[in-house]
This record gives sequence, structure tokens and C-alpha cells, in this order.
Amino acid sequence: MAAAASTANPNALTTPVNKTAHEFDKAILDATLTRRFFFTPAFEIYGASLLANILDAWRKHYIIEEDMLELDTTIMTMSEVLKTSGHVDKFADWMVKDTKTGEIFRADHIVEAVIEARLKGDKEARGVAEEVKEETEADKKKKKKKVKSVAVKLEDSVVAEYESLLAQIDNYTGPQLGEIIRKHNIVNPLTGNEFTEPVEFNLMFESNIGPTGHIKGYLRPETAQGHFVNFAKLLEFNNGRVPFASAQIGKSFRNEIAPRQGLLRVREFTMAEIEHYVDPLDKKHTRFNEVKDVKLMLLPKDVQMDGRTDLRQMTVGDAVAQGIVDNETLGYFLARTQLFLTKIGIDPTRLRCRQHMANEMAHYAADCWDFEIQSSYGWIECVGCADRSAYDLTVHSVRTKQPLRVQQTLDQPRTVEKLEVVTDPKAFGIKFKKDATSIRETLTGMDKERLQCVKDELEKNQSSIVKCADGRSHEITSDLVKINAVTVTEHIREFTPNVIEPSFGIGRILYSLLEHSYWAREQDKARVVLSLPPLVAPIKCLIVTISQDPELRALIHEISRKLRKLGVASRVDDSGASIGKKYARNDELGTPFGCTVDFASIKNGTLTLRERDSTAQLIGPIDDVIATVDELVKGSITWEDASSRLQSYSGVQDVE
Ligand code: AMP
Repeated sequence: MAAAASTANPNALTTPVNKTAHEFDKAILDATLTRRFFFTPAFEIYGASLLANILDAWRKHYIIEEDMLELDTTIMTMSEVLKTSGHVDKFADWMVKDTKTGEIFRADHIVEAVIEARLKGDKEARGVAEEVKEETEADKKKKKKKVKSVAVKLEDSVVAEYESLLAQIDNYTGPQLGEIIRKHNIVNPLTGNEFTEPVEFNLMFESNIGPTGHIKGYLRPETAQGHFVNFAKLLEFNNGRVPFASAQIGKSFRNEIAPRQGLLRVREFTMAEIEHYVDPLDKKHTRFNEVKDVKLMLLPKDVQMDGRTDLRQMTVGDAVAQGIVDNETLGYFLARTQLFLTKIGIDPTRLRCRQHMANEMAHYAADCWDFEIQSSYGWIECVGCADRSAYDLTVHSVRTKQPLRVQQTLDQPRTVEKLEVVTDPKAFGIKFKKDATSIRETLTGMDKERLQCVKDELEKNQSSIVKCADGRSHEITSDLVKINAVTVTEHIREFTPNVIEPSFGIGRILYSLLEHSYWAREQDKARVVLSLPPLVAPIKCLIVTISQDPELRALIHEISRKLRKLGVASRVDDSGASIGKKYARNDELGTPFGCTVDFASIKNGTLTLRERDSTAQLIGPIDDVIATVDELVKGSITWEDASSRLQSYSGVQDVE
């Protein structure tokens, strides 16, 4: 697969260059990233300025542009909070063990790897071998870890079944994965041993809070709960009105079963999450019009359930109008996310929105889409966008007895039919004891539709089951609980807001961006270029001299000072290396522009300006070039604009 930086990217520098002259070579990319310190394995820092620039762009794109309230909540979280949110009981992956060696695998991952290997073996047997290419060191390493394919031809019906299985791999429950393992004789490819039945493994890191060790806590697995427990204050800050949004950037922790994919699956990672609170009866978005024409590549759930993965390109306006995306606010965030990812340099042709299938999606969610980015690891979920309905605020409200609701004064009082829960306090207390309050609150906190179901059941069967926030279910009976339809006049409408949540995994985006930005010059595949957009490039401008002359050296420091004053991150290279080497060193760092000081700079007061991807050069008075660099970096002009302002430079000039 050739990794081409996108030409469709609106932020890419515009001069056409051949970025696909060489095959994508992961070994060269990895070596470059480690050597230039973009990231290194665990316990060392990674690409700190690239990360900071992505986060800065995120902050401007969302928090500032959308006027969000930024939060910074605790990482260590009381178990009560995560018990209420459902994480203690449900935040788990399914794992299987090798029955003899005890080696542990994530169930869905091992099924996927074995089935993919069988399909590859089938292709080999049919002579439809994948493109033959030179094997790199990275390929060899990857192969060692990968499940080996054996050339065996499969029945056509089996191939179809396997393809359909892969398309739905995210939709299977643990018991279903167990069935698949048995049905398709999936064994440990390294030992040939059978697997145990899948069991759940909770992904949270547990700890104790305080010296007694009695208070249990967890490192947060997402930042979202910190928003919800602060909702009352956020609502007050927003004058009691919705819609509004809170945002938080911070570390989250998950005890992943097999964290083996570089930055893609780690146990500690930076998340950036938005919780946007809306009226459940009005999920329109006032700025939807601005984004309705943004095109998305959609992989809807029904296509996946059909066993297919073909994408449908559609504007977000059409997707919402046709009911493919549930509502305008969710559509708005899908479009804004597409704009953010492409703005920082993600190739739009390697970006898709995959809708969650029924089993994958939490039972309370109205709709959920993942932005998946394609890299050498396949399609990887990098951003999840979910409509979480009223679930989070309802469970926290029931548990803490704080009304996390919005009160809206009505213009006109209105008469409404309501359902009222009436219990016999004494008999109810005797029957349910310490659970009585929680059951009563669960009932009174239900929305009208759910309460109507309970009422119907009580009338039909004289009993109904109520599930409380702690996950336990209780049977209530018609002699203890009555649900009556009453007519009341309301002056205030009260509702629990629904939450639309875009959740970003920044490390995954950062790694995908590096792969998408990587290419090599046509003449030499070791001459790596990272086409990072100026917006996120760690260093925006390189300043070099063509000789070690003291006068020239003084001038580059002067230029550097001027750029620094404008806030443009620049780097001086006054080493004795050749100019070509200096450019090459900065091409692989992703530095988009280079200013070169030569003897004409002293004599004529000129400076040359080089663009990284095309290597085109312009020339002009020193201060004009500096002003041009500033505008290029801020994104207010393009390279084409710069070319019409400054003269093109061929490398020859009069210095006599
Ligand atoms: P989730 O809450 O599972 O939808 O995760 C939200 C986002 O966090 C995902 O879209 C990923 O980008 C990111 N993420 C989840 N788990 C990890 C991990 N183990 N390592 C790195 N990023 C992760």
C-alpha cells in the first residue's frame, strides 16, 4: 500500500509533487520517528510538540470556536461514581486462555486474526496472491507476531461466511465469540491448543483512596464521568439553559489485554472529550447549516449486518434528512470532526465513519458512529461520536439524589397528562427494606414511555421488574405500587438533558497522522519527508546559512529573533553540514518552510524561502519574507498567494 499524503487535503501545501514514488515502508518510518524523537516506547516522552500542537488545534476548533466550558477533573475516581455509571459491572473485554499454556488473548482479536489468515491462505491457494513486494525488516517482525497463513482453498460458502463474520466482528457478545471459536475450530495458532470459553475482564485499574484502604477507587477509563458529576455546577454556570457543552483533555487508563500496537493500544492515553447537553425534544443545532454540505464516507450498520463494508459518500445534511444519522446535533459533530481531522492533516480518503451495530452500542444510546482511520494497522477507531440519551445524568441523579434536570419556564401554562407513582410507604418498606428508596426513585425518575410499560405490565401480570442504578433487579407488584394517569397544569417544563459525546483518542490520531504524512523523495527512498500541515508541525521554519561566515551567522539569529517575536516556532541550523543535508534533516521533522541566508542577504537585504514538499523557492526583502512566513504558518495565505507576492528563485543571483 502506498502511503500518500492527501492532495485533497485543504490544508496541504499546494504544489504537486510525486508522493507515491515509493511503497509505504514502515521500517523507514519507524526508524525516522524514533530517531527524530516523535515517540519512543513506554516510559519515554513522545512527540511532545506535535501532541501539544494537535491539542492546541483541538482546543481552538472546539472549545473556543464553540464556546465550550473547559474542565480538568480528577483522574483517581471514587468507585461509587464508576459503579453508578456502569463501568464497574460492564467495562470489560472478552478474553480467552490457551487451555495448556495459559496464554491470554482478546477473544475478538484472535478470532479476527485467525479468520483473516485463513482468507489469505485461500487467496494464495487460488493464485490471487497479494501484490508481491520486497519484504522489509518491519514486515518480517510483523509476520512473526501475525498469524501465519497456509495456502488452503476454502469452499466459496465458507469464504462468504468468513467475510460476513469479519464485517460483524465488533458486534459479537462473549458467548457468541465462544460459539464461533468452537464452530470454526479456532485454536491457538502458536501452539495448536484449544481455547477456554471467553470470560469478561474488567479494564479498569483499581486502587485504594486514603490511608485506611477502605475507600475503593479506579484510575478513570474515560474523562466523561468527571463532566457528569459536575453537571449541576455547569448548568448553573450556563444560566440553567441547554444546549451547552463541556470539554476536557486528559489522561485515561485502561488495563488492555494485549497492548501491542504502538500508540494505538496503550494502557495510558490522552483523551479529548466533549459532552454536549441538549433538550431531548429538540436535537436541532443552530449551526447545522454551516456544515450540512460536508461530505462523509459512511459505513452504516445495515451494510455491516449484511456482511459488507462498502462505503457510501454523503453530505451530512442528506445523512440526517434520510435518518441515517439520528439527529442534527450528532450530524453537526460528525461534520466538525471530519473538518478537524482533515485540517490537522489526516488524509480524507483514508477516513470513514462506521456506525455501531445493535450489540456494540450501549442499550441506552440512540446512535453512535466511530471515525476510523486507515493505517498499516488497518481501520482503527480514533474518535467515537455517540448520542448517549439521558442515561448518564439519570443514573447519577438517582444515585446522588441531586436533580440533574433543566427547568424551563413555559411561555404559556399547559395541561398535561402525567403518570404518577403511588406506593404504600409501610408495606413497600417492609417488602424491600433498604432497597425501597432506590426502587421508588428509579420509578419516579423514569420517562413517560418506560413508566407506561411498567403500568401496562402491572395491569396485565400484576407484577413488573425494575432495574436500579446498582444493576440489581426487583419485582414490584400491583398491590404495592399504583401508577395513575393524572392531569396537571404545568408552568415549568422539567427534563433531563440528553448527551451527545464526541470522544477523541489523541495518540491514535497522532500516529495515523504521521503515517499519512510520510513519503520519500523520488530519487531516494531513505529521504523521508513528513508533510505535516504548518498548523501542527512542531517547528514551522528552519533558518540556515550557506556558509559559516560570522556576518551571515549574526543575521540568522536576528531573523530567528524576529520570527520568535511573531510566535513562529523556528530553528536555527548554523552547523557546518551542507545546505542539502540541513533541508533533508528538517524535511523528515516535518518543518514546512526554510529561510536561507546567503551573501545576497548582506548585499541586497534579501532572503530566500523554501517550501518543504515541492522544494520550490521564493525570494524577497528580509522583512517581507518574515511577514509571509508568519501568514503561511497562521494559514491566512497559501503558498500560491506567497508566490504571487515574492519572486520565484532559481538559485542564481547577483552578489557582485
Ligand atoms: P471509547 O470510549 O472506547 O469509545 O474510546 C474513545 C477513544 O479513545 C477511541 O476512539 C480511541 O481513539 C481511544 N482509545 C480507547 N482505548 C485506547 C487505548 N487502549 N489506547 C489508545 N487509545 C485508546
